[in-house]
Amino acid sequence: MKLDAHDSMILELLQKDARMSLKDMAEASGLTSPTVSARLKALQEVGVVRGFGADIVPSALGQGVMFLIIRSRPSDVSAVADALAEMPLIREMAIAGGGRVIATAVFRSIAEQESVLNDIGSVPLVQEYDHYVHVETRKKEPLALVSEGAPVSMQCYYCKKVIEGTPHKIRLDGKDHYLCCPICEREYRKKYAEIKEKAASE
Ligand SMILES: [Zn+2]
Repeated sequence: MKLDAHDSMILELLQKDARMSLKDMAEASGLTSPTVSARLKALQEVGVVRGFGADIVPSALGQGVMFLIIRSRPSDVSAVADALAEMPLIREMAIAGGGRVIATAVFRSIAEQESVLNDIGSVPLVQEYDHYVHVETRKKEPLALVSEGAPVSMQCYYCKKVIEGTPHKIRLDGKDHYLCCPICEREYRKKYAEIKEKAASE
């Protein structure tokens, strides 16, 4: 699947203003509102659009921000990231190459800053970490470059790997689900049925 001209226009409009109404997007892209809505839903379902968050400035609420680089052995990095993700003051986090976790944390006082650093230091398997206090944001552009024809890589809903080639699309409860292979499809259907059954019995 590739982004077509309409998808890429919708994404560019949203990157400029995530609160743009369907009506305004339809007007700007020459589509109807229901078409914009359907395309947007599809872009969310395949994982191209993750969300529409408000960008609230921490310093305006009296909060400091610090950047963290946390190092562990590459084989431990996933477990380290899981433990770090539990800390409420760590707000953004990514696993990078070389066993590094790059994170951003906020704090409301020096004591809180120290407690975050202590908590990170006490996570098992963390080898070392550095922290740098945020001084000034100089640039903040949407990360993804949007263009017509950009290939859309989809994650398998079951194994979470990027789907190579044509995805297996199945329709469950009026929604499309994408799987990488017949094995994942079978397991996913099983899991989906179990979850539904459990929800129905509660
Ligand atoms: Zn899969």
